[in-house]
Amino acid sequence: MTRQQRRLLDRFVIALVALALVFAAGWLGYRVSRLAALERQGERGQQQLRLYNQTLASELARYDYLPGVLGLDDKVAALIENPRDKARVADANFYLAALNERSGTRAIYVLDAKGKVLATSNWQRTDSYLGEALGYRPYFRQAIAGQSGRFYGVGTTRGESGYYLSSPIGNRRAPVGVAVVKVGLEQLEAHWQDADSRVMLADENGVVILASNPVWRLSTLNTLSNAERERIAQSLQYNRAPLPAIDLSKVEALATGDELVHLERGPVLLSQRLTLPGSPWQLILLSPTGEVRRAAMGSALLAAALTALALTIAVALNSRRRRIAERLAARAALEAANNELERKVFERTADLSAANRQLKAEVAERIRAEANLRKTQDDLLQAGKLAVIGQMSTGIAHELNQPLAALRTLSGNTQKFLARGDLSTAQTNLATINQLVERMGRITGALKSFARKTGNGTSSANLAEALENALFLLDTRLKGMKLELVRDVDPELVAACDPNRLEQVLVNLIANALDAIAGVESPRLEIRAARHGDALSLTVRDNGAGFSMEAESRLFEPFFTTKPVGQGLGLGLTLSAGILDDYGGSLVADNHPCGGARFTLTLPPSMEKANHGR
Ligand code: ADP
Repeated sequence: MTRQQRRLLDRFVIALVALALVFAAGWLGYRVSRLAALERQGERGQQQLRLYNQTLASELARYDYLPGVLGLDDKVAALIENPRDKARVADANFYLAALNERSGTRAIYVLDAKGKVLATSNWQRTDSYLGEALGYRPYFRQAIAGQSGRFYGVGTTRGESGYYLSSPIGNRRAPVGVAVVKVGLEQLEAHWQDADSRVMLADENGVVILASNPVWRLSTLNTLSNAERERIAQSLQYNRAPLPAIDLSKVEALATGDELVHLERGPVLLSQRLTLPGSPWQLILLSPTGEVRRAAMGSALLAAALTALALTIAVALNSRRRRIAERLAARAALEAANNELERKVFERTADLSAANRQLKAEVAERIRAEANLRKTQDDLLQAGKLAVIGQMSTGIAHELNQPLAALRTLSGNTQKFLARGDLSTAQTNLATINQLVERMGRITGALKSFARKTGNGTSSANLAEALENALFLLDTRLKGMKLELVRDVDPELVAACDPNRLEQVLVNLIANALDAIAGVESPRLEIRAARHGDALSLTVRDNGAGFSMEAESRLFEPFFTTKPVGQGLGLGLTLSAGILDDYGGSLVADNHPCGGARFTLTLPPSMEKANHGR
C-alpha cells in the first residue's frame, strides 16, 4: 500500500468515526431530550389528571348526601311504613320527581327491604321503574347491608348508564328500605373534550364509563376473561353491553410508571393513570407525544450539529497543529541544510585557501624559475655575443693594428718634420693621426656597445642605422670577401625594439650568411626592409648552399650547429628568435627558390620617433 493510499484510508476511517460520533451525539440528544420532555409532559398530565379527579370527586360529592337525606323525609318514611297506600305512593312519587327535577339527577327512587321499587321520580313514564325488583343490584345490596352504596351501571329498563348512590333507610343495622339516586356524569365529558388529550374513566372492571370520545364508552381497557364476562353478564351491570376491547397496545413502559401506547394504531400517546382515592376507579389520560418527538428531534439535530461543529473545529485545530509542526520541521530542516551548507562552504573555503596558498607558492616558484630562465637567457645572450666577438676578434685586431702601425709611422714622421720645421706636413700628419684615432675609437665604441649586457633603454630602432652598425662591426670580414652587397632599407623605418638587440640579431644573421657564402664563387648578400601593413619586415638573403632538410627543421634549437668545433655554438638563431619574440616580432627561415638561405624578421613599427645616432 502506498503512502497516499494509507492516508486516504486513514481519512476514510476518521470520516466514518466522525460520522458515527455525530450520529451517537444525535441519538443521545434525542434520548435525553425525549426523556426530559416525556417527564415534563408526564408532570403536566398528572396535574391534569388531578384536576379531572377533583372535578369528578366534587361532582360526585354533590349528590353524596342526597340518598341519606331521603331516608329522613316524612313522605318516604310514610311510604315505607305502608307501601300499599296509593296516596302515600303518589305523594312520594311527586316528591321524588320534584326533588329529581330540582337536583338535576337522572332518577331518584325508593326500594323496600326486598329491593322492590316503591316510588320513583320517573313514575309517570311508561318505562318507569315503579314496581321493578332491583334486589340484585349491587347498590341495593350494599345499602340493605347498612352501607352507602356506590355503583356505576347501565339501567336495565332504559339502558341508560349512570352513577348510583344508595343509602339505607331507617336503622342502619336493619334497614327498612333503600333510597337510590341515579346521576348522569356525561356533563363531565364535555369538559374533557376541550383538551387535545383523550381522557377516560374506567371502573373497577376496567370498563370505560366516561370518555372524552363517547365512542369508547362501555369498552374495556383490559381484555376480560370469560369468567369475568360471565360474572358481569349475570350482574347486568352494563345491561348486556358487548364491552368491546379498546385497541390500546403498549409500546414502552417508562420509569415513572407511565406508558407509551398506540391507540387504535394511531400515533404514540403517553398513557397516564390515576386511581381515584377511596375507589377502584381509574382516570386515564392519553396525551399526544408529537411535541416530545419534535423537541427530541430538535435536540438531536442540535447535538449532532454541535458535535459536527466541535469535530470540525478539532479537525481544523489538528490540521493547524500539524501544519505548524510541518512548518517547524521544514524550518529545522532548512536550518540543518543551512548549517550543512555553511559547513561545506567553510570546508570549501578552507580548501580554496589552501589551494590559493599553493597557487601563490607555485606562482612565486614560477616567478623564480622565470627569473632564473631570464638570467640564463641573458647569460646565453652574453655568451652568444662574446662568441661573435671572439669570432670577430681576429678581424678587429687586424683593424686596430693597421691604424696603430700607421700611427706609429706617422707620429715618427711628424716628429722628424717638426724637427725640420716643416710644420705644414707635420700638421697634415697630425690631422691624419686624428682621423685614425677617431676610427679606432669608433671600433672600440661599437664593440663596447655590442658587448653590453642589456640594451640602453630605448625601445625604437631605426632599421637602416641598426644595419649600418651591424655591418660596421663585421666590416673587416666584409672587406676580406669581395662580395656583392645589396642594401635596400628605407631610412624612415623605425621598429619598436631595443637598437642594441636588433643589432645583435642582424650581426648573427649577417655573420651566418657570410659563413655560408665564404667559399662561394661570386658571393652575394642582399638585405631589404619594407613595411607590410602593421609590421616591418627585413630579409637577409645569401647565395650560399641553403639548409638541408634536417637543418631547416632544427635551426632554432639551442646548440644546433653544422659548423666545426670552435667556430659555432648553435646559439645565434635561438637567441635572435627569442629577442624578436620579446618585442612582439618573429623570425622565419627558408631556402630561396633561386638557391641560398633567406631569413625574414618582422617587428612592430615604433610609435615614437627613432633615436638617431648613439
Ligand atoms: P652557429 O652559427 O654557431 O652554428 P647559429 O644558430 O647561428 O649557430 O646557426 C645554426 C646553424 O644554422 C648553422 O650551424 C648552419 O648550419 C645553419 N645556418 C645559419 N645560417 C645559415 C645560412 N645563411 N646558410 C646556411 N646555413 C645556415
